[in-house]
Amino acid sequence: MRFGGITALDRVSFSVAAGRIVGLIGPNGAGKTTLFNCLSRLYGFSEGDILFEGRSLLATPAHGIAALGIARTFQNLALFGTMSARQNILLGGHCRTRSGFFAGALRLPSVRREEQVLAARADQLVELLDLGGVAQTRVRDLPFGTQKRVELARALASEPKLLLLDEPAGGLNHEEVGALIALLQQVRDRLQLTMLLVEHHMNLVMRVSDQVVALDFGRVIADGTPAEVQGHAEVIRAYLGEPA
Ligand code: ATP
Repeated sequence: MRFGGITALDRVSFSVAAGRIVGLIGPNGAGKTTLFNCLSRLYGFSEGDILFEGRSLLATPAHGIAALGIARTFQNLALFGTMSARQNILLGGHCRTRSGFFAGALRLPSVRREEQVLAARADQLVELLDLGGVAQTRVRDLPFGTQKRVELARALASEPKLLLLDEPAGGLNHEEVGALIALLQQVRDRLQLTMLLVEHHMNLVMRVSDQVVALDFGRVIADGTPAEVQGHAEVIRAYLGEPA
Protein backbone atom coordinates (compact mmCIF):
# COMPACT_ATOMS: atom_id res chain seq x y z
CA MET A 1 0.00 0.00 0.00
CA ARG A 2 1.56 3.27 -1.10
CA PHE A 3 0.68 6.90 -0.52
CA GLY A 4 2.63 8.81 -3.16
CA GLY A 5 6.25 8.07 -2.35
CA ILE A 6 5.52 6.46 1.06
CA THR A 7 5.25 2.67 1.24
CA ALA A 8 2.89 2.31 4.19
CA LEU A 9 2.66 -1.51 3.98
CA ASP A 10 5.48 -3.48 2.43
CA ARG A 11 4.84 -7.19 1.73
CA VAL A 12 2.99 -7.57 5.02
CA SER A 13 1.92 -11.18 5.37
CA PHE A 14 0.47 -13.14 8.30
CA SER A 15 -2.38 -15.55 8.99
CA VAL A 16 -5.14 -15.31 11.56
CA ALA A 17 -6.73 -18.63 12.59
CA ALA A 18 -10.47 -18.76 13.28
CA GLY A 19 -11.42 -18.15 16.90
CA ARG A 20 -8.15 -16.46 17.86
CA ILE A 21 -7.53 -13.01 19.27
CA VAL A 22 -4.64 -11.43 17.41
CA GLY A 23 -3.00 -8.18 18.54
CA LEU A 24 -1.41 -5.86 16.01
CA ILE A 25 1.25 -3.63 17.55
CA GLY A 26 3.90 -1.21 16.35
CA PRO A 27 5.17 2.31 16.98
CA ASN A 28 3.36 5.37 15.57
CA GLY A 29 3.32 5.35 11.79
CA ALA A 30 4.09 1.61 11.57
CA GLY A 31 1.09 1.00 9.30
CA LYS A 32 -1.51 -0.49 11.66
CA THR A 33 -4.40 1.80 10.75
CA THR A 34 -3.53 1.52 7.07
CA LEU A 35 -3.74 -2.26 7.35
CA PHE A 36 -7.17 -2.01 9.04
CA ASN A 37 -8.34 0.33 6.28
CA CYS A 38 -7.16 -2.19 3.68
CA LEU A 39 -8.93 -5.03 5.52
CA SER A 40 -12.20 -3.12 5.67
CA ARG A 41 -11.65 -1.96 2.07
CA LEU A 42 -11.70 1.74 2.91
CA TYR A 43 -8.45 1.76 0.94
CA GLY A 44 -7.93 0.04 -2.37
CA PHE A 45 -4.42 -1.40 -2.09
CA SER A 46 -2.10 -1.25 -5.04
CA GLU A 47 -0.45 -4.69 -4.84
CA GLY A 48 -0.99 -8.01 -3.11
CA ASP A 49 -4.20 -9.46 -1.74
CA ILE A 50 -6.03 -10.26 1.47
CA LEU A 51 -7.86 -13.56 1.70
CA PHE A 52 -10.84 -13.99 4.01
CA GLU A 53 -11.90 -17.64 4.28
CA GLY A 54 -9.94 -18.21 1.08
CA ARG A 55 -11.76 -15.45 -0.79
CA SER A 56 -10.03 -12.38 -2.17
CA LEU A 57 -11.08 -9.12 -0.56
CA LEU A 58 -9.91 -7.28 -3.67
CA ALA A 59 -13.12 -8.38 -5.37
CA THR A 60 -15.25 -7.07 -2.48
CA PRO A 61 -16.26 -3.39 -2.34
CA ALA A 62 -16.32 -1.61 1.06
CA HIS A 63 -20.12 -1.93 1.29
CA GLY A 64 -19.88 -5.73 0.86
CA ILE A 65 -17.48 -6.25 3.77
CA ALA A 66 -20.12 -6.51 6.52
CA ALA A 67 -22.13 -9.05 4.51
CA LEU A 68 -18.97 -11.19 4.22
CA GLY A 69 -18.75 -11.27 8.00
CA ILE A 70 -16.21 -8.57 8.86
CA ALA A 71 -17.08 -5.76 11.27
CA ARG A 72 -14.97 -3.02 12.82
CA THR A 73 -14.88 -0.35 15.45
CA PHE A 74 -13.12 2.99 15.03
CA GLN A 75 -10.45 4.75 17.08
CA ASN A 76 -12.62 7.87 17.37
CA LEU A 77 -15.99 6.10 17.50
CA ALA A 78 -18.55 6.24 14.69
CA LEU A 79 -21.93 6.32 16.43
CA PHE A 80 -25.14 8.28 15.86
CA GLY A 81 -25.01 10.64 18.85
CA THR A 82 -28.66 11.67 18.90
CA MET A 83 -29.94 8.11 18.76
CA SER A 84 -30.20 5.83 21.79
CA ALA A 85 -27.67 3.11 22.54
CA ARG A 86 -30.19 0.44 21.57
CA GLN A 87 -31.09 2.17 18.30
CA ASN A 88 -27.41 2.30 17.37
CA ILE A 89 -27.09 -1.42 18.08
CA LEU A 90 -30.23 -2.18 16.02
CA LEU A 91 -28.73 -0.31 13.08
CA GLY A 92 -25.65 -2.51 13.22
CA GLY A 93 -27.79 -5.54 12.36
CA HIS A 94 -29.40 -4.10 9.28
CA CYS A 95 -26.83 -5.51 6.88
CA ARG A 96 -28.26 -8.94 7.80
CA THR A 97 -31.80 -8.09 6.64
CA ARG A 98 -33.05 -9.11 3.20
CA SER A 99 -36.24 -7.12 2.74
CA GLY A 100 -36.07 -4.35 0.21
CA PHE A 101 -37.43 -0.82 0.23
CA PHE A 102 -40.96 -1.69 -0.94
CA ALA A 103 -41.43 -4.59 1.50
CA GLY A 104 -40.33 -2.21 4.26
CA ALA A 105 -42.67 0.57 3.14
CA LEU A 106 -45.61 -1.89 2.99
CA ARG A 107 -44.64 -3.44 6.36
CA LEU A 108 -45.00 -6.97 5.02
CA PRO A 109 -45.00 -9.82 7.59
CA SER A 110 -41.48 -10.84 6.49
CA VAL A 111 -40.25 -7.36 7.47
CA ARG A 112 -41.86 -7.58 10.90
CA ARG A 113 -40.27 -11.01 11.47
CA GLU A 114 -36.84 -9.66 10.54
CA GLU A 115 -37.32 -6.72 12.90
CA GLN A 116 -38.20 -9.09 15.73
CA VAL A 117 -35.02 -11.07 15.14
CA LEU A 118 -32.93 -7.86 15.09
CA ALA A 119 -34.61 -6.64 18.29
CA ALA A 120 -33.95 -9.94 20.08
CA ARG A 121 -30.30 -9.86 19.04
CA ALA A 122 -29.93 -6.23 20.15
CA ASP A 123 -31.37 -7.15 23.56
CA GLN A 124 -28.89 -10.04 23.92
CA LEU A 125 -26.01 -7.69 23.14
CA VAL A 126 -27.33 -5.08 25.57
CA GLU A 127 -27.18 -7.78 28.24
CA LEU A 128 -23.78 -9.20 27.19
CA LEU A 129 -22.15 -5.77 27.20
CA ASP A 130 -23.89 -4.66 30.37
CA LEU A 131 -25.73 -1.77 28.72
CA GLY A 132 -29.14 -2.45 30.27
CA GLY A 133 -29.14 0.72 32.37
CA VAL A 134 -28.38 2.99 29.41
CA ALA A 135 -30.11 1.28 26.47
CA GLN A 136 -32.59 4.13 26.00
CA THR A 137 -30.09 6.94 26.65
CA ARG A 138 -28.87 9.15 23.81
CA VAL A 139 -25.37 8.03 22.92
CA ARG A 140 -23.92 11.56 23.08
CA ASP A 141 -24.97 11.77 26.77
CA LEU A 142 -23.02 8.64 27.73
CA PRO A 143 -19.47 8.56 29.16
CA PHE A 144 -16.76 7.73 26.61
CA GLY A 145 -16.09 4.25 28.03
CA THR A 146 -19.78 3.34 27.73
CA GLN A 147 -19.93 4.72 24.19
CA LYS A 148 -17.09 2.37 23.32
CA ARG A 149 -19.14 -0.60 24.59
CA VAL A 150 -22.09 0.61 22.47
CA GLU A 151 -19.82 0.71 19.44
CA LEU A 152 -18.63 -2.81 20.17
CA ALA A 153 -22.25 -3.99 20.48
CA ARG A 154 -23.15 -2.23 17.23
CA ALA A 155 -20.31 -4.05 15.43
CA LEU A 156 -21.38 -7.37 16.98
CA ALA A 157 -24.98 -6.86 15.82
CA SER A 158 -23.87 -7.60 12.26
CA GLU A 159 -22.90 -11.11 13.49
CA PRO A 160 -19.33 -10.89 12.27
CA LYS A 161 -16.96 -13.82 11.99
CA LEU A 162 -14.04 -11.40 12.15
CA LEU A 163 -14.11 -8.33 14.38
CA LEU A 164 -11.55 -5.56 13.82
CA LEU A 165 -11.01 -3.42 16.90
CA ASP A 166 -9.15 -0.15 16.44
CA GLU A 167 -7.62 0.85 19.79
CA PRO A 168 -10.41 -0.50 22.02
CA ALA A 169 -8.56 0.67 25.15
CA GLY A 170 -7.84 4.18 23.82
CA GLY A 171 -9.17 6.84 26.23
CA LEU A 172 -10.19 4.30 28.91
CA ASN A 173 -9.05 4.51 32.53
CA HIS A 174 -7.19 1.74 34.37
CA GLU A 175 -10.33 0.09 35.75
CA GLU A 176 -12.12 0.24 32.41
CA VAL A 177 -9.15 -1.44 30.69
CA GLY A 178 -9.30 -4.28 33.22
CA ALA A 179 -13.01 -4.75 32.53
CA LEU A 180 -12.40 -4.60 28.76
CA ILE A 181 -9.90 -7.49 28.92
CA ALA A 182 -12.52 -9.70 30.60
CA LEU A 183 -15.21 -8.48 28.21
CA LEU A 184 -13.24 -9.25 25.05
CA GLN A 185 -12.50 -12.78 26.23
CA GLN A 186 -16.15 -13.27 27.17
CA VAL A 187 -17.34 -11.97 23.79
CA ARG A 188 -14.91 -14.23 21.93
CA ASP A 189 -15.97 -17.31 23.93
CA ARG A 190 -19.72 -16.62 23.83
CA LEU A 191 -19.92 -15.57 20.17
CA GLN A 192 -17.01 -17.68 18.87
CA LEU A 193 -15.52 -15.07 16.66
CA THR A 194 -12.07 -14.06 15.54
CA MET A 195 -10.63 -10.71 16.62
CA LEU A 196 -7.85 -8.59 15.25
CA LEU A 197 -7.05 -5.61 17.42
CA VAL A 198 -4.78 -2.62 16.99
CA GLU A 199 -3.72 -1.42 20.39
CA HIS A 200 -1.04 0.68 22.08
CA HIS A 201 -1.96 -0.57 25.55
CA MET A 202 0.65 -3.33 25.89
CA ASN A 203 -0.78 -4.85 29.04
CA LEU A 204 -4.13 -5.39 27.29
CA VAL A 205 -2.55 -6.78 24.10
CA MET A 206 -0.29 -9.20 25.93
CA ARG A 207 -3.04 -10.44 28.25
CA VAL A 208 -5.84 -10.80 25.73
CA SER A 209 -4.06 -11.99 22.55
CA ASP A 210 -3.29 -15.56 21.49
CA GLN A 211 -0.95 -14.22 18.80
CA VAL A 212 0.77 -10.86 18.37
CA VAL A 213 2.00 -9.38 15.09
CA ALA A 214 4.43 -6.45 15.30
CA LEU A 215 4.84 -3.95 12.49
CA ASP A 216 7.53 -1.33 12.00
CA PHE A 217 7.90 0.96 8.99
CA GLY A 218 5.24 -1.05 7.16
CA ARG A 219 6.88 -4.44 7.62
CA VAL A 220 6.18 -7.40 9.89
CA ILE A 221 9.10 -7.60 12.32
CA ALA A 222 7.68 -10.30 14.64
CA ASP A 223 4.77 -12.75 14.67
CA GLY A 224 4.25 -15.19 17.53
CA THR A 225 2.88 -15.68 21.02
CA PRO A 226 2.77 -12.62 23.30
CA ALA A 227 5.84 -13.87 25.20
CA GLU A 228 7.82 -14.44 21.98
CA VAL A 229 6.99 -11.01 20.57
CA GLN A 230 7.60 -9.20 23.86
CA GLY A 231 11.12 -10.59 24.03
CA HIS A 232 11.91 -10.17 20.32
CA ALA A 233 15.05 -8.08 19.77
CA GLU A 234 13.60 -6.12 16.82
CA VAL A 235 10.44 -5.28 18.73
CA ILE A 236 12.45 -3.99 21.67
CA ARG A 237 14.60 -1.95 19.27
CA ALA A 238 11.51 -0.53 17.47
CA TYR A 239 10.03 0.66 20.76
CA LEU A 240 13.10 1.65 22.71
CA GLY A 241 15.58 2.57 19.96
CA GLU A 242 19.08 1.19 19.46
CA PRO A 243 20.89 0.15 22.64
CA ALA A 244 23.37 2.83 23.74
P1 ATP B 1 -0.60 5.27 14.80
O1 ATP B 1 -0.22 4.28 15.85
O2 ATP B 1 0.04 6.61 15.02
O3 ATP B 1 -2.08 5.33 14.52
P2 ATP B 1 -0.19 3.54 12.48
O4 ATP B 1 0.68 2.38 12.81
O5 ATP B 1 -1.64 3.31 12.46
O6 ATP B 1 0.17 4.76 13.44
P3 ATP B 1 -0.55 4.53 9.81
O7 ATP B 1 -1.49 5.62 10.21
O8 ATP B 1 -1.12 3.34 9.15
O9 ATP B 1 0.32 4.07 11.06
O10 ATP B 1 0.56 5.18 8.87
C1 ATP B 1 1.55 4.44 8.16
C2 ATP B 1 2.35 5.36 7.26
O11 ATP B 1 1.54 5.81 6.16
C3 ATP B 1 2.83 6.64 7.94
O12 ATP B 1 4.08 6.98 7.40
C4 ATP B 1 1.78 7.66 7.57
O13 ATP B 1 2.33 8.97 7.55
C5 ATP B 1 1.39 7.21 6.16
N1 ATP B 1 -0.02 7.48 5.84
C6 ATP B 1 -1.10 6.95 6.46
N2 ATP B 1 -2.25 7.39 5.89
C7 ATP B 1 -1.86 8.23 4.90
C8 ATP B 1 -2.59 9.02 3.93
N3 ATP B 1 -3.91 8.99 3.87
N4 ATP B 1 -1.86 9.77 3.07
C9 ATP B 1 -0.51 9.78 3.12
N5 ATP B 1 0.23 9.07 3.98
C10 ATP B 1 -0.43 8.30 4.86
